[in-house]
Amino acid sequence: MFSKILIANRGEIAVRIIKTARRMGIKTVVVYSEADADSMAVEMADEAVFIGGAPASESYLVADKIVDAVRQTGAQAVHPGFGFLSENAGFARRLAAEGIVFIGPNPKAIEAMGDKIESKKFAARAGVSTVPGHVGEIDDTAHAIKISEEIGYPVMIKASAGGGGKGIRVAWNRRDVEEGFPAVRAEAKASFGDDRIFIEKFIESPRHVEIQVLGDKHGNVVHLFERECSIQRRNQKVVEEAPSPLLDEATRKAMGDQAVALAKAVGYDSAGTVEFVAGQDRSFFFLEMNTRLQVEHPVTELITGVDLVEQMIRVAAGEALPFAQGDLKINGWAMESRIYAEDPYRGFLPSIGRLVRYSPPPEGDMPGGTITRNDAGVREGDEISMFYDPMISKLSTWGPTRDAAIDAMGRALEDFHIEGLGQNIPFLAAVMDQDRFRSGKLSTNYIKDEFPDGFQGLPPTDAQRDLIEAVAIYMQTLQAHRVARFGDEPREDWVVVAGAHRRRVSAMMTPDGLVVRNGGPELKLSRVGWRPGQAQFRGSLNGSDFTVTVKPAAEGFVIRHRATTLHVLVLSPRSAELHEKLPPKKAADTSKMVLSPMPGLVVSIDVAQGQEVKTGEVVAVLEAMKMQNILRAERDGVVKAVSVKAGDSVAADEVLVEFA
Ligand code: ADP
Ligand code: ADP
Ligand code: MG
Repeated sequence: MFSKILIANRGEIAVRIIKTARRMGIKTVVVYSEADADSMAVEMADEAVFIGGAPASESYLVADKIVDAVRQTGAQAVHPGFGFLSENAGFARRLAAEGIVFIGPNPKAIEAMGDKIESKKFAARAGVSTVPGHVGEIDDTAHAIKISEEIGYPVMIKASAGGGGKGIRVAWNRRDVEEGFPAVRAEAKASFGDDRIFIEKFIESPRHVEIQVLGDKHGNVVHLFERECSIQRRNQKVVEEAPSPLLDEATRKAMGDQAVALAKAVGYDSAGTVEFVAGQDRSFFFLEMNTRLQVEHPVTELITGVDLVEQMIRVAAGEALPFAQGDLKINGWAMESRIYAEDPYRGFLPSIGRLVRYSPPPEGDMPGGTITRNDAGVREGDEISMFYDPMISKLSTWGPTRDAAIDAMGRALEDFHIEGLGQNIPFLAAVMDQDRFRSGKLSTNYIKDEFPDGFQGLPPTDAQRDLIEAVAIYMQTLQAHRVARFGDEPREDWVVVAGAHRRRVSAMMTPDGLVVRNGGPELKLSRVGWRPGQAQFRGSLNGSDFTVTVKPAAEGFVIRHRATTLHVLVLSPRSAELHEKLPPKKAADTSKMVLSPMPGLVVSIDVAQGQEVKTGEVVAVLEAMKMQNILRAERDGVVKAVSVKAGDSVAADEVLVEFA
């Protein structure tokens, strides 16, 4: 076994690999760029080597620098994680030539599977069912149209070297091909330096199901069952689970057998993933093979009890797999949510910045027999930078059943608190709370189907309204008690105004907590863990634990439970009467303005008066906290006025640009 390995990656996956290496008694070295000097991975590793500038092209993608770092530290092997050099056959060859072990598959297997056209040909020869289409390069737009018409619309135009959801486009007709073919080709050239394109049938409303395989250097290959990753946005995975609610035993076996056959045919000797698209009728077709550890590997680890990173290290060191196919079993169900630095309320625009607050849920065994796991590479105060993937962490839960895993995920998301940047936790919570998700009727169109107009949060259920109101009354009562010291009586009758909803309630503080009567069954709010000023309010309502986030507003409180946010006023009956007579306060309409999110210096204004702007286009660049922040249009529109110019200093919430 190795005594020291180097991790050629960063962030959560570097931390993930360090944890297993440490448990195996292997010393770790990480490499780091300028942006990661102060990172958690650097702090955790036994040694760290600086390899260059923040852009990956100056650091994590430079094979020479990785090899130098290996030489300098005497590491015997390199784990590439995912992304960066993980699927680069040249890098694997280079290490071999230098006598360094690559903790991944052999270069021939990477080469054969790294390219979508080649891997599709290979898969077809190995007896794997592939998506109908043209397995070969396409020369030009005329050729693309001819092929598309042979296959029959809709088709998918794909970059052979594509990855991470890039270099893919659906074409529903000839015009789409005329437009899409050159576009995909240009994107492929720019992103992958390789403009080979192919076209296959677009499977409508499919599901993404993939098989985890694991091979060793002695010709053994097993699979560790499937993961379903159908909850996607722009062809990128957001929620993954294992096993798949779609598969029955026969399909699971057929898919597993095909994946193993393909892995054996390429001499696969590490962890890898064979991806399929599947119809609702359980027909399935090969998409691609990823010759690396997959982002969503934790769900497989949770249902099989196998540490995939450990197995990758062991087989790279020459050990034989310690189990055969028959030894592997699915135990329970696991879910993973990718927590991204993006603002779901604003069209999922990227929202990088500093994690002013970062408080993940507790990990490990939970009451009720579930497990929570959070794979992260950040701590409070760290920055999610523009240079790398905007993932903050991967939150996974395990339960004996799918429902239990979903419930555990809902609770874990409630307990996850982040401030300082936009994040998709409320959106993930919404998915967990949807009946369709719970019923397992998934498809890669799920997000488009369920949130056709984007995400605005979910309306409260009756139970959520009860919960949020009880919390508001509790907070108001504490305030009233503080006032009571100055001679007032603590009040017990309230009028609660939550959104457009208003009702009378009576509430009483008891030694165990707060008892609320609102006309329905009595509510008991107990075991409260909250002090004034805290943003997270934990408690138990009629015996069920919950966490909500609370924020004082100019009047009342803003309280969020999962995907639901309510502005709540708790008023004495007398002030409620007065309040009703007041004209409702209108907040200024800022929906047509681009405001400065923080104080800073305007670097550029990228639009002019009268210009038509599309969602996502750059409106202005603002420098703040030594970082350039790109402000994008949140909707299509025409610029009515530009209020500032490059070089101006602006305050938070200052209007920069106004739309008509
Ligand atoms: P696929 O869907 O094909 O499995 P994934 O979404 O699972 O692809 O993840 C692979 C992608 O993860 C890479 O192509 C890259 O964009 C991104 N990535 C690379 N390095 C890291 C990292 N250190 N942390 C998080 N994501 C990364
Ligand atoms: P990447 O390398 O970017 O992961 P994939 O080939 O794995 O590219 O495709 C990414 C996603 O795009 C899949 O998970 C699936 O949702 C969708 N997709 C790819 N090919 C097809 C197809 N032929 N029909 C329908 N959906 C597809
Ligand atoms: Mg893929």
